[in-house]
Amino acid sequence: MAEKPFGPVRTCIVCRKKYPKRDLVRLVLRDGAAVVDSRQKMSGRGAYVCGSRCMEKAAMNVKGCLDRAFRLGGKPVRLEMPD
Ligand SMILES: [Zn+2]
Repeated sequence: MAEKPFGPVRTCIVCRKKYPKRDLVRLVLRDGAAVVDSRQKMSGRGAYVCGSRCMEKAAMNVKGCLDRAFRLGGKPVRLEMPD
């Protein structure tokens, strides 16, 4: 069966632009922190970031983008970067 030309599209939580899901970095909420889901296999609410610039902004929670993406009801979300 032929694959669709574009596949799933997701919105970057920082710049709000849409990209093919495979071009984005997936973040997942774990124990109150957003972690990078490098294999895109972790369960839970995911959020997507498009690249290193937006990743830096996500790490700083610019405009509350992480809080908004994960909707923790005002609880601040921090981003745990991989080693
Ligand atoms: Zn972006």
